[in-house]
Amino acid sequence: LVQLFRPLDMLGMVYRTIRQGLIDMAEMFRLIDTPVEVADVPSAPALVIKRPTVVFDNVVFGYEPDRTILHGLSFEVPAGQDVAIVGPSGAGKSTIARLLFRFYDPWSGRILIDGQDIREVTQASLRCAIGIVPQDSVLFNDTIGYNIGYGRDGATIADIEKAARGAALSGLIDRLPKRFETEVGERGLKLSGGEKQRVAIARTLVKNPPILLLDEATSALDTRTEQDILATLHEVSENRTSLSIAHRLSTIADADRIFVLNEGKLAEAGTHNELLRADGLYAEMWNRQASEIEELGEAAE
Ligand code: ADP
Ligand code: MG
Repeated sequence: LVQLFRPLDMLGMVYRTIRQGLIDMAEMFRLIDTPVEVADVPSAPALVIKRPTVVFDNVVFGYEPDRTILHGLSFEVPAGQDVAIVGPSGAGKSTIARLLFRFYDPWSGRILIDGQDIREVTQASLRCAIGIVPQDSVLFNDTIGYNIGYGRDGATIADIEKAARGAALSGLIDRLPKRFETEVGERGLKLSGGEKQRVAIARTLVKNPPILLLDEATSALDTRTEQDILATLHEVSENRTSLSIAHRLSTIADADRIFVLNEGKLAEAGTHNELLRADGLYAEMWNRQASEIEELGEAAE
C-alpha cells in the first residue's frame, strides 16, 4: 500500500511546488527528473567518506537508448583537489554532474566515491555529501535566511551570516531593512540572476559538503565577484574535493587538474600550463577566449 501511495504523494508535492513557482533545482530534479529505476538497493548502507575521492571508471551513458553521450569515460579526482571540467557545449559536462548526483545511473561502468559505488549506497547519504550549485539556481518563495539555512538542518544565524559573507551577499543584506527576514521571489524582493546564484552558493557554504560540484555556477557573475566567491569556496578544508564545470577558462586556470571533455570522451588532462604546452583543444579554447577578451577591451576603449 505504501508503494502505491508514494507516487501519488510525490505528484501532489510536485504540483504544490510548481504552483509555488519557486523551487530548489536539486529538489526539482529529485521530484521530477529522477527516473524510477534509480532506487536504493535493499538495505543499502550510507555512504561513508573519509577521503572524498571521485572516480569515473569506464562510464557509458546516454539519455536515450540510441544516442550515447559518454563513451567509456574514466577519470580520477584525488581527495582535496580542485578539478575543472571544460569542453565545448554539448560535450557532456553537465551529464557528469547529473550522474555523480545520481539523477541517472550509467549504462555500464562505475562511479566511486571514496571507493564506494554510488549505486550501492543510499541516495540520501550521497546527496548529503555533495553540494551542487547549478547554472541557474531557483529559490524557495521564502526568506533569504530560509533559503540559505536550507543547506543544513540546524543551521544557526551565525552560520547563515558567515555563509552570506562568503558568497558576497553582505552588501545586499545590509541594504534590506528586514535583512535575512526579507522575503524573496513573488512575495517580496526580486533578485537578479547573479544574486540568486550567490544565495545558492551561500546555501552550499552552510552545507559545507566534502564534495563540491559547481556547474557553471558563477558564470552569471561579474569576473571580480566570481573570483572572490571562488576563493571562498576553495579556501579551508584540504579534505574537500571540488569539481568545477566552467565555460570561462580564466576562472579555472589555477585548478590542480583540468579535464578536457570532447564528444563524451576525455580529450586531454593536465594543469593549465601543461595543456597550453600540449597545444591541443584546451590551448585552442584558451587562445580563442583570450582574443575575445582583447576584442571586448578594444571595443570598450
Ligand atoms: P554540456 O554540459 O557539456 O554542455 P550536457 O551534458 O548538458 O552538455 O549534454 C550532453 C548532450 O546530452 C547534449 O547533446 C544534450 O543535448 C544531451 N542531453 C542533455 N540532457 C538531456 C536529456 N535530458 N535528454 C536527452 N538528451 C539530453
Ligand atoms: Mg552544461
